[in-house]
Amino acid sequence: MLNYFMHEMSLAINIVEIACQTAKKNSAGRITSIEVEVGKLAGVLEDSLSFCFQAARHKTLAENAKLEIISIPGKGYCKTCNYTFETDTFFTLCPKCQGLAVDILQGKDLKIKSIDVD
Ligand SMILES: [Zn+2]
Repeated sequence: MLNYFMHEMSLAINIVEIACQTAKKNSAGRITSIEVEVGKLAGVLEDSLSFCFQAARHKTLAENAKLEIISIPGKGYCKTCNYTFETDTFFTLCPKCQGLAVDILQGKDLKIKSIDVD
């Protein structure tokens, strides 16, 4: 559990750092909100990320910023039968042909979508 928490903490610190660099580059006074996309397969607990963000933003330009988390569903693609499907897990069989040759197309990443500044 602690490991998970550490993971979200370092992500939150990263998000705040990137947002602050962007704000400085644009000579912005403060950050009002940060929108992040979190893939369902990224291994990120959204509640923990929000919680860690509250701590990470302390005494930065993002002090009063809101963190908006957009969940991105996982998507797999079967190379055997060309079928695209939604999935909650990395290790999945194709639901159509039970094949193993599945690529994960979407849902693996965490990325900052937008940063609003004043
Ligand atoms: Zn298939």
